[in-house]
Amino acid sequence: MTRLYDDPATFTEDMVAGFVAANPGYVREVRGGVVRARRARRGKVAVVTGGGSGHYPAFCGVVGPGFADGAVIGNIFTSPSAEDAYSVAKAADTGAGVVFSFGNYAGDNMNFGLAVERLRREGVAAHNVVVTDDVASASAQDIGKRRGVVGDFVVFKVASAAAEEGYSFDEVVRVAEHANDRTRSLGVAFDGCTLPGSPQPLFEVPDGRMGLGLGIHGEPGVSEVDMPSAAELARTLVDGVLAEAPEGTGTRRVAAILNGLGATKYEELFVVWKTASRLLAEAGVEVVQPEVGELVTSLDMAGCSLTLTWLDPELERLWSAPADSPAYRKGSIVESDVDDEVVEEAAEVVAAATAVAPQVGQDTARLVVAGLRSLSELLHESEDELGRLDAVAGDGDHGRGMSRGSGAALEAAEPAAAAGAGPAAVLMAAGDEWAAKAGGTSGALWGAGLRSFGDLLPDDREVTAADLLAGSRAALEAVQRLGRAEPGDKTLVDALIPFVDELAAAVGDGAGTGEAIRRAAREATAAAERTAELTPRTGRARPLAERSVGTPDPGATSLAMALNRAAEVLGGRNPELDTTEVK
Ligand code: ADP
Ligand code: MG
Repeated sequence: MTRLYDDPATFTEDMVAGFVAANPGYVREVRGGVVRARRARRGKVAVVTGGGSGHYPAFCGVVGPGFADGAVIGNIFTSPSAEDAYSVAKAADTGAGVVFSFGNYAGDNMNFGLAVERLRREGVAAHNVVVTDDVASASAQDIGKRRGVVGDFVVFKVASAAAEEGYSFDEVVRVAEHANDRTRSLGVAFDGCTLPGSPQPLFEVPDGRMGLGLGIHGEPGVSEVDMPSAAELARTLVDGVLAEAPEGTGTRRVAAILNGLGATKYEELFVVWKTASRLLAEAGVEVVQPEVGELVTSLDMAGCSLTLTWLDPELERLWSAPADSPAYRKGSIVESDVDDEVVEEAAEVVAAATAVAPQVGQDTARLVVAGLRSLSELLHESEDELGRLDAVAGDGDHGRGMSRGSGAALEAAEPAAAAGAGPAAVLMAAGDEWAAKAGGTSGALWGAGLRSFGDLLPDDREVTAADLLAGSRAALEAVQRLGRAEPGDKTLVDALIPFVDELAAAVGDGAGTGEAIRRAAREATAAAERTAELTPRTGRARPLAERSVGTPDPGATSLAMALNRAAEVLGGRNPELDTTEVK
């Protein structure tokens, strides 16, 4: 049972706030997670761990000198977003690149994967080391499909120690992958775990029984057996992991973790370890610096797991290296290698957790802000007109929503650009605020669209027409994914698709940015006007569908207006912005 919480919906945020308050010497909070309170010296490769929360001390508990540079913190058992991973990486990066390491789960792979792509586009070296140690989750032939469980801890530890020693980016990746190749785990559970606010556990193990091979989120195990004694369990774990030993290591030296999953006491673990250590010795395996305790938990799950890593001299040195973090301390670490200049600079941008973009990106960001300002003015002036359109068959709030949304977006964008952020970060901030403040269907869609559009804009070179096309396609995809509207449903999609199509044609013709967007915006206007003929098939206007015929769709209309305004700004047609022509 998870008994203590204020609001289950904010459990993770509340937990992080308390964690940071308890460890101010170690960590500071950034968007999406935490980074070291004092960033490592310039040129040290950053190791960032993460995943869903509910696994403490994994992952935020191991941020500190000798260990991780940052942890991305998702909701309980939920992958963090790509934006979270990106944001933590940017805050942790000292210029030598970021190695993410996390367990093998679809959501994490996707989101960390997107973050890596984005970092690389910005010229930051980035790579994912995906941990696959759980022998119960797939066969040895399908080793890449195995889940990451407590092997996470070993891989993070080794990668972090290597980075601390001054390994290059490629070398940190190599040794982290090497550690993963040589790590195997097997876990068991005696009882399930309960999400905060949930009346019943995620899964249950019948009394007197034990689930063998369970994951760290209660994923089904391979089998269920009678509850063994501690000694019998030790044998099951030792035999199970040794049977899966990686081939051809030629070593008898292993790192070992007997890990408690949350509701199994240290005393019980020691009783199990008494036999496990003896069995390992009898099998001719020499254990190096074992850990017996809670390193990767699963809320209040009752159970434990055994993890072994077959060592070579390099892995053994890195496994044994000193570390100092909130939940894990080993040896003594000399912390002279902190870059105070970096720390101060970082502190200034903590709020947005965005790094300062190159000059060209800052210039683009200023143009984006100018565009948003102009858009906000336009939508403010058009509030009544758009409201009247929406009132014909909808609820009349469209003008108000667009005006509020664009105003909020501008307010978020201005400080981000002033802090030196590039266009992507500025539009992300703008999109988030738009969605948060506008309300209504169109607010959510505009927020998602702006975020997706912005995500594809480069920081380190001028924006081309092809970038606008890529961004617009991403925006359309986001809008359709979220709203599920089809062409002809009488929504803003009916203006957005022709816009994207014409933009593609213009790019094909070799048009420059200004010309391409002007052409595409003209198409959007014509398409928005044509929506008058359509009957709404989705959205609030659907119940009064017939009344809407003869009136253009409000969302399509406002989108076309906005795109025309953007075209003016980008094309330098707006007299106030004449000097800001973008090629
Ligand atoms: P609400 O409909 O919640 O009152 P607004 O009035 O601000 O929101 O926006 C209405 C506009 O939102 C519609 O004119 C239409 O263009 C757009 N819209 C509504 N539903 C969808 C959808 N599922 N996909 C795309 N656009 C939609
Ligand atoms: Mg409305």
